[in-house]
Amino acid sequence: QIRCCMAAGCMSANSAAVKESLEKAVDQAQLSDRVRVCSVGCMGLCCQGALVGVDPEGTLYEKVIPDDAPSIIAALDGGEATCQKGDLKHPFFMRQLPIVLENSGKIDPERIEAYIAASGYQALYHVLHEMKPNEVIEEITRSGLRGRGGAGYPTGLKWATVAKEKADRKYVICNADEGDPGAYMDRSVLESDPHRVLEGMAIAAYAIGASQGYIYIRAEYPLAISRLQMAIRQAQRLGLLGSQIFDSPFDFRIDLRIGAGAYVCGEETALMASIEGKRGTPRPRPPYPAESGLWGYPTLINNVETLANVPWIIRKGADWFASIGTEKSKGTKVFALAGKVRNTGLIEVPMGTTLRQIVEEMGGGVPDGGEAKAVQTGGPSGGCIPAEAFDTPVDYESLVQLGSIMGSGGAIVMDKDTNMVDVARYFMEFCMEESCGKCTPCRVGTVQLYRLLTKIREGRASLADLERLEELCDMVKSTSLCGLGQSAPNPVLSTLRYFRNDYLAFIKSRQ
Ligand code: SF4
Repeated sequence: QIRCCMAAGCMSANSAAVKESLEKAVDQAQLSDRVRVCSVGCMGLCCQGALVGVDPEGTLYEKVIPDDAPSIIAALDGGEATCQKGDLKHPFFMRQLPIVLENSGKIDPERIEAYIAASGYQALYHVLHEMKPNEVIEEITRSGLRGRGGAGYPTGLKWATVAKEKADRKYVICNADEGDPGAYMDRSVLESDPHRVLEGMAIAAYAIGASQGYIYIRAEYPLAISRLQMAIRQAQRLGLLGSQIFDSPFDFRIDLRIGAGAYVCGEETALMASIEGKRGTPRPRPPYPAESGLWGYPTLINNVETLANVPWIIRKGADWFASIGTEKSKGTKVFALAGKVRNTGLIEVPMGTTLRQIVEEMGGGVPDGGEAKAVQTGGPSGGCIPAEAFDTPVDYESLVQLGSIMGSGGAIVMDKDTNMVDVARYFMEFCMEESCGKCTPCRVGTVQLYRLLTKIREGRASLADLERLEELCDMVKSTSLCGLGQSAPNPVLSTLRYFRNDYLAFIKSRQ
């Protein structure tokens, strides 16, 4: 079997044409009876696309172009391929532990049969026939799974809260409004293994007593949207979504809602307003979505990666999942590794893996012998962690202690040439543009912070401006209505904490 990556990264490197050439080459070599060329999802090492895998050997070919196809086929019988072979013993692959990504790069995301052959929908069958809803919640609670969207709230506790609400209607929402700059984990999971997320949603719906689900996904993800639409149709056709699933009394339907590109719609209350057809702006909490969510009914909101863990936990057991990771952060985390690092792409590592292992071993360090200065995690709500702290094991608590957050999983590496004032200013500009304008501290505060950062960057600021910057950060953080405003100052505060000299250098240049 020859696997061709058909996720967005490799498709932008012409993988569709590579696949076509491979099919032709197989025909010409009259090997169609023993060699199958198939489409798969993301293989992870996005910087080396287009990627092609050959089984059963597992050989990985990198930067494949259509002209390489005949030589890849000749290599099946001992010839030499004209494209480079990937090193599967490299830490980039060896340090990974695929749970969420267990099928990514292995199965065809557009064929439900491929997902079923890889044990897909077994977990749903099991819970519907062998488990009561409260037992499912207990299993998820025991696994220690925490929300992968950013805050790390315990998933089992969230499910239990919605389950105990008395209502004649409940909803499950999958938050696929991934919008952090540099983050593409959820997009990749949806492009590579969409049925996994549908199955996770159906299990969650059974556990809390919901019969309708929505996936809120951003319009900028057309490939993920079309694969989800296809997956929903296929699951409906086989009776895995709809009425009386697996001949049980459980009914569950899923509809897509496509966001129009507002970053703030990733915030739960704004997301629900958008699904209801209103303007996507946050509202104060309480009431929390678990008590009063979509159209006033109890609603469970989980992100893509959280739900993608669920079928694995049910199939393999909570104890196995809980045995992976650190004391308070169980399981694995998917990261989108980007920036000034040799190997950019998608990785899934056990919680507790250090930043050094991620950046230097898996990422291969900064290209051309450069030195890493920091890694930015958590997007505009996160912070910049200095290279001196790279030995920190990655988990929710340790990243917060360092002034950042796990966030959804973006990890952008910066080298010594990166100026941290520029980084802080970039993220503040992002928050300023994305502020919905509903509350004054964020609407006005982000503009003022951006102006102060610009003043510093242009060498026009004094030490008093630096003090004002810190005061304003505290004010915006403590008085904004939603997470966007509350966390917008984080990149400024973390760069001030670790890279104050970058700020002082601009201030001194004025004197
Ligand atoms: Fe809107 Fe910002 Fe206020 Fe959130 S903090 S409600 S994004 S203005």
